[in-house]
Amino acid sequence: MTIAHSLGFPRIGKQRELKKAVEAYWRGKLNQEQLLAEGQKLRQQHWQWQAEAGLDYVPVGDFAWYDQVLNLSCTLGVIPERFLADAKQIPSEVGLELYFKMARGDTNEQGEVAACEMTKWFDTNYHYIVPEFTENQSFAISSSQLLEEIKEAAQQGLKPKPVLLGPLSYLWLGKAKGSDFNKLSLLDELIRVYGELLVKIADLGVEWIQLDEPILTLDLDNEWRQGFETAYNRLQSTPVNILLATYFGALGDNLGTAINLPTEGLHIDLVRAPEQLTSVVDRLPAYKVLSVGVVNGRNVWRTDLQQWLERLQPVKQRIGDRLWVGPSCSLLHSPVDLNQEQQFADDVRQWLAFAVQKNKEIAVLAKALAGDNSTEITAAIEASMAAFKEKNNSGRIHDETIQARVQAIDANMSIRQKPYNQRVVLQRQQLKLPLLPTTTIGSFPQTTAIRAARKAFKAGKLTEAEYRAEMKQQIADAVHRQETLDLDVLVHGEAERNDMVEYFGEQLSGFLFSQHGWVQSYGSRCVKPPIILGDIKREQPMTVEWIRYAQTLTNKPLKGMLTGPVTMLCWSFPREDVSREVSCLQLALALRDEVQDLEKAGIHIIQIDEPAIREGLPLRKAEWQQYLDWAVRCFKIASCGVENTTQIHTHMCYSEFNDIIEAIAALDADVITIETSRSDMELLDAFENFEYPNEIGPGVYDIHSPNIPSQDWIKQLLKKAANKIDLERLWVNPDCGLKTRDWSETEQALANMVAVAKELREEYQAS
Ligand code: GLN
Ligand code: ZN
Repeated sequence: MTIAHSLGFPRIGKQRELKKAVEAYWRGKLNQEQLLAEGQKLRQQHWQWQAEAGLDYVPVGDFAWYDQVLNLSCTLGVIPERFLADAKQIPSEVGLELYFKMARGDTNEQGEVAACEMTKWFDTNYHYIVPEFTENQSFAISSSQLLEEIKEAAQQGLKPKPVLLGPLSYLWLGKAKGSDFNKLSLLDELIRVYGELLVKIADLGVEWIQLDEPILTLDLDNEWRQGFETAYNRLQSTPVNILLATYFGALGDNLGTAINLPTEGLHIDLVRAPEQLTSVVDRLPAYKVLSVGVVNGRNVWRTDLQQWLERLQPVKQRIGDRLWVGPSCSLLHSPVDLNQEQQFADDVRQWLAFAVQKNKEIAVLAKALAGDNSTEITAAIEASMAAFKEKNNSGRIHDETIQARVQAIDANMSIRQKPYNQRVVLQRQQLKLPLLPTTTIGSFPQTTAIRAARKAFKAGKLTEAEYRAEMKQQIADAVHRQETLDLDVLVHGEAERNDMVEYFGEQLSGFLFSQHGWVQSYGSRCVKPPIILGDIKREQPMTVEWIRYAQTLTNKPLKGMLTGPVTMLCWSFPREDVSREVSCLQLALALRDEVQDLEKAGIHIIQIDEPAIREGLPLRKAEWQQYLDWAVRCFKIASCGVENTTQIHTHMCYSEFNDIIEAIAALDADVITIETSRSDMELLDAFENFEYPNEIGPGVYDIHSPNIPSQDWIKQLLKKAANKIDLERLWVNPDCGLKTRDWSETEQALANMVAVAKELREEYQAS
């Protein structure tokens, strides 16, 4: 036989039941008992589906009220002192209250207790709660949730395979607090507790445990590799089989380490790194199980089962029952169930697979490899083949005119006519902006009126004309308020946009939108990324009418607002039949046309947002440059088709700029606005040290905080910025869009910002 298993299932529920229950609990609308019952129901349901799909083991430990890394911190007793009444006393059982405090922060007699930090899980859009380690960190089993869940699954008559983040990845993902010590100094103590935990798990009759070590696909130094050997040599004696799971890339130079660790099994990601199959099989020790991740856990497409069957059959012959089949990584990153989608065309539906369908693919492939040629299995494989054949020839996917246009892109399309130092002179003549010009990042408050109008329009209760009239009124209101505030460069406010990617995707051919394709982003937050189905084309102008209208209302320059090609790509499910680069080039061409249309409509300042440009970076440094090259090229194709007098802005947030500053400079945007206020302008250092040549607007206040920034606060930040960047190149703006704030906060904050800009302008001009 061939074992079919999964690395994890999405926990949110097919109707986002988990989100709804957790949020109801936070609001006091659900008590703890009700919440616990809802969680149990979801787990049971998900295990049931996986068993019905034909999996031999079901993952346990993939469920979490907020985040699986936070679960592990609670299991291991890694609780920052600030959350404890008695600083030294870790509770023997961490309850829900403490758990949520760590995730969301707390207030006590001393005031605010900051939540634990959250950060992106590798190169996904999932965010985990960062473990905090102190130099003398102790570890002790402090939660029985995992053990209880294992019992639950067993009671359901299933074979549980517990899933845990392994000790090295757990340490790697955490942060040293207090002093700057080597986290590996904690490894000994950590392994001791992992060992205890594994014994308790083994006592429940578990055969296999999956330890996830995704950092084995990153660049590691020898000390960390040595750490792997130490850890797994010690865990070897525990009475349970360990499947070491790696994903999100190739093992590469960590292959030797990973394959020789004394674990009973190794899982590899063959979706991201199909080329590693041969070298892994060649070096696989004779005792070891190899789990191949061939069903993409991070995307929505059906798997080409026939292709995998052909590739894996020789492996099956060589290693027999030691071959297991699974998804590339946990299905946490894919939507739950395709069967809920009502509006996809029949052919398109055949090309897709969400988590429920992916489990079936795994089981079918495993059976086929084991020699099952029943009609059920053959039919499933033939259906997959037919779907791929149809897709390869479908007019929904391929548009020759677009492909030809991509082929015809020439080098001149990604260069401005003149260099920045010449453009700037012409732009100053054209725009006549004061020193330290003030502006905003694009969106203004998405008020209840705006959301109600959109909802009514979608529900057919407002006609298109009525909806547009309402949006125009909102735009007029935003322009009026900006004039009153006396900002220098105005925006239309983005009232008509639900989301910065979806808004454009809906107007471009080549995109597909699901109704229920949610995936968890962090905690109870879910996102529903658009799906890039085929070649992308702009059918008609997407923003021109709104921006042109806004410009008619004011004599001040109005800044056109677009989402950049790289961000559109990074926040969508990409195609699997072409590279990310190809879709990005198509997006770039569509945006280039929009930029040129805006210019023709008399808009002289155009912002192209790229907040996701850093997120798209490959996990291995050696692959960075290649990505940055095409990402920069795409931005430039979108932005360079304009006259010298047209000023291109871009915006980025939450980025460490140091290691990609050259690429940012290569974008050659006339102005970049960035998030810096939270780091007290420290993020500006990269621009200063690099001697970044163009103009910069370092955010002077944090839009995520409901506090109104005082004039003093803004002034000291701006003065700090002025110490690093020439005054002539400095802009004054908040650090991101204002759509999540209300108007009263927004107006007070911006009034302070404008007042400070005016004051400093006079001060500097006088001196
Ligand atoms: N223009 C967008 C806005 O203001 C930018 C959003 C972002 O940076 N994520 O909302
Ligand atoms: Zn932003």
